[in-house]
This record gives sequence, structure tokens and C-alpha cells, in this order.
Amino acid sequence: MSDKQNKKIWKVVVKRDACIGAATCVVVSPDAFELDGENIAVVKPNAELRSDEELLMAAQSCPTAAIFLYDEEGNQIFPKL
Ligand code: SF4
Repeated sequence: MSDKQNKKIWKVVVKRDACIGAATCVVVSPDAFELDGENIAVVKPNAELRSDEELLMAAQSCPTAAIFLYDEEGNQIFPKL
């Protein structure tokens, strides 16, 4: 499911005002997320290239649902609308 043809997630966004710096996302996907100087998660360059499974797991692990995932057309994939 994580091969390029099946890839659905093409944009990753952290809503800074929702992030509490719990860093679960960093633990789950250290290549996609890191904490900045204010202890708020930022999306690393090329985070979108991580597998859908990994990005979804990271987003689901966020205690405040601060991570939003979008497909190629900009439709929100997670959290589900
Ligand atoms: S898991 Fe959520 S609250 Fe924790 S650092 Fe990542 S985005 Fe912020």
C-alpha cells in the first residue's frame, strides 16, 4: 500500500495553535516531523514522501489532532471530515 501508485497523502500540515509539543509524531515519524525552538512540531522537507501508513499513524498518534493530511487535489484525508 505504500508504493507510489497507491500513495494518497501529498500534503502534511501541523496546526501550530493546536500542537502541545507532545512529540508523539516525532517518535512515530522522525523523518517527517521535528520540534522547533518553541517546542511546536514542524513538518520537515520531503515529509510527504514518507509512506501513507507512517504519516497516518503519526497523525492519529497526535493527542490534540493537530496534524492534517491532504491528497494531491488538496482534499482533507485526516482527520476525516
Ligand atoms: S503529536 Fe501533535 S501535539 Fe505532539 S508534537 Fe506532534 S503535532 Fe504537536
